[in-house]
Order: sequence, then C-alpha cells, then structure tokens
Amino acid sequence: MKLKYIWYRIRQAGFSLFMYLAPIRKEKVISGAGCLLQIPEKIKKSGKQKVLVVTTAGFMKRGSLTPFFDTLKKENLEYTVFSDVKPDPTTDCIEEAVSLYKKERCEVIVAIGGGSVIDCSKALGARIARPQKTLQQMQGLLKVLKPIPDLYAVPTTAGTGSEATAGAVITEGKSHYKFTILDLCLVPKYAVLDAQLTYALPAQITAYTGMDALTHAIEAYTNHFCFPLAKKKSLDAVKLIYENLEAAYSDGNNKEARENMLLASYYAGVAINNNFIGYVHAIAHGIGGLYGVTHGKANAIILPFVLKAYGKSIERKLSVLADLVGIRGNDEKEKAEAFIDSIIKLNEKLGIGNRLDDLQKKDFEELANRAVKEGNPTYPVPIIWEKDKFKSLMEKIV
Ligand code: NAD
Repeated sequence: MKLKYIWYRIRQAGFSLFMYLAPIRKEKVISGAGCLLQIPEKIKKSGKQKVLVVTTAGFMKRGSLTPFFDTLKKENLEYTVFSDVKPDPTTDCIEEAVSLYKKERCEVIVAIGGGSVIDCSKALGARIARPQKTLQQMQGLLKVLKPIPDLYAVPTTAGTGSEATAGAVITEGKSHYKFTILDLCLVPKYAVLDAQLTYALPAQITAYTGMDALTHAIEAYTNHFCFPLAKKKSLDAVKLIYENLEAAYSDGNNKEARENMLLASYYAGVAINNNFIGYVHAIAHGIGGLYGVTHGKANAIILPFVLKAYGKSIERKLSVLADLVGIRGNDEKEKAEAFIDSIIKLNEKLGIGNRLDDLQKKDFEELANRAVKEGNPTYPVPIIWEKDKFKSLMEKIV
C-alpha cells in the first residue's frame, strides 16, 4: 500500500472514531402526520420570537403551509418567508437568505423542503454564526465551529437525510462547483418527520430521492470503519427502501410507504453522519454541478457501476444486504452480484434507467479531478482510487 494511502486510512479512522464518540448535537425527532404544527409551540417555549421560514415557491403556490403559518400567528410569533430556494442552492441564493434573516432580525430558522432547502438553511445558519467567513471559506471539515441559530428541519422529500446530517451541499454560483460544509454544529436542532408533506411529491422525484437515500445507506455500510450505529441504521434503511420505494413511487398517497420512506431517509442520514458517503457521491456532485443532473438520479445510475468496481472488497457486505432483502445466491459472490443487479432493475422499474446521457467525454478530466478532491482523503471508501480510475468508470456510464 502506498504511504499516502496509509495516511488516508489513519486520518479516516480518526475521523470515524471522532464521529462515533463525539458529543454530536443529536437532533431531536418529532414524527407523525401533521407534526409540522408542533413547531410553533416549541419555538414559543424556547423564548424566540422571530422566525425565518425557508421553503420553495412550489410550497407557497400549493398553499399546503397555510395551517402552519396560522399556527405561528396563533402563538404570536412573527415570521418572514424566504421561498426562493431552487434545486441545488447556490452561494448567491444563500446570501439572499442571509440578507433577509439579518434585515428582519430573525432568531430561528424553519426549513420546509427537500435537501436543497435544508442545506440552504444550514449554510445560512453558518453565515450567521460566522459573519466574517464566506461560504467558500467554510468549505470542508470543521470550519464553522460555532452554534448556528436553532434550525427546525422539515424534509419534504425522502432522500437526502439532511435533517440528520452535519453537511450542507452548496453550488458555487459562477463555476457550478459543488462543495460541502461539514461541521457538527450544522446538525439541526429538530428533525421533523411529517410524511403528509411528501404526498404531493411527483413520482419521478420520489424515485430519484428514494435512490439517493439507498445510496447513502449502501455507501455508509460498505465504507471502512462502520461502527454499530451506522451499521444498524444503514441496514434498517436498505430494508425499508426495498420494501417501500416502489409502492411510494406508484401511489404517492400510500401513507405507510411514505412514512417508511421518510424514516428510511432519516436513518440513512444518521448512517452517513456517522460513516460518511463515498465515491458515488464524489462523482455525482461533479456531474450535478456541471450539468445540473438531479442529485438522486446521478447517484442511482452511478451506484451499481461503483459497487461493481469495488469488486471483491465489498462482496461479503453486499451478500449481507442481499440476505436482508431476500435476494438469493449460492455464495457471497453470487449474492453480491445479484444485489447489484437488483439495483439496476430497480432503476429500470422506477423509470430512471442506467445511463447518464448528459455526461460528456471532454469533461472526464475535470469531473475526475473534482471526485478526487472531494473523496480523498475524507471518505473511508472500500478501495482508494486515483483520477484514472474515475475516468475509466465514467467511460462505462455514458
Ligand atoms: P430538492 O430539495 O432539490 O427538491 C427537488 C424538487 O422537488 C424541487 O423542485 C422541489 O421544489 C421539489 N419538492 C420538494 N418537496 C416536494 C414536495 N413534497 N412536493 C412537491 N415537490 C417537492 O431535492 P433533494 O433530493 O431533497 O435535495 C437535493 C439536494 O440535497 C442536492 O443539492 C444534494 O447535493 C443535497 N444533499 C445534501 C445532503 C446532506 O446531508 N446535506 C445529502 C444528500 C444530498
């Protein structure tokens, strides 16, 4: 093994142990249909008065947040709405939210939306905590190190698990470079799992986001140094997703499937918070940044290619996942292959397909550079790759 890789592994082991033992601000969970309406009372009790609600134009148009706004009023809380968050929040979008937060002298953030809204809110919180630092300066590990305002994260997609994680994924406005701010103080104060808010999620986004959650669970599980909490949450998430994603996709109003998917996404978020993501994400972030490909779609398509490329190193772990979801095989190798095949078939059933047409050969060099920069040495991946390996993998995905 190269000396450099030994250093990577020591660093990764240190961080994994830190994440396992650190007094991570553990989000409190509120769950159940309609639980969104419990937030105002909690804010009131915390003694805060001015709320910034971060959401999307879609939610404002659908009017589904009206009962929530009424409850805020009932509790005599003042609120302002920032509803300009678009998929993959940019640095400019976050700065707009920062200006509004400051102008209105807000004290609390309620993020109601998918990963884009929650990440925008985390980054906004980081800028409030560290007004002298730009978002770019907080890129990477532990650059905030100061409490952010109370954040109530209400996921409306069952995918990113951002309501449980210490990460915020941001897109640089001009370069379209996607980067992550990773700091324990970004873990929201509350994760509010109200499945009712996900009923309106279109089938295609249900599919993309569900596969994002599956990617989290599998990457956390197959990574090195998977401590018991990450292991349990990954396994629970994989099982729930295999049992519920197709049902949620074909009938958005299937309450049980929606609730289970929201739980699975949260579990997968807990798992990556403890054991990181991997190269699927490192490649997908570059592709999302460069071509605007939806995050979950990119993950879904890249996942089986990366798992295959890891080969023998994760055979045993994939065979455990196969057993978990009832996939048969005569030995570990057969089961691992059958599990990867099941992901390919799931992508087909969910209308995602298994090729990324947007990917262009001329960008392989840039995408490989971005993947190496993001993945090494941070992610405790099963096998460490260099640039050429990423490039040859991308050849297979187009
Ligand atoms: P998203 O938040 O970008 O939402 C996708 C689309 O669905 C948007 O158009 C949104 O308006 C719409 N939408 C959301 N909820 C809806 C609902 N209930 N009904 C109807 N429409 C709805 O998608 P996402 O996949 O949740 O988040 C993706 C972002 O999260 C990416 O930027 C990704 O990089 C990031 N991410 C963050 C983490 C983390 O831990 N912080 C983890 C994974 C991904």
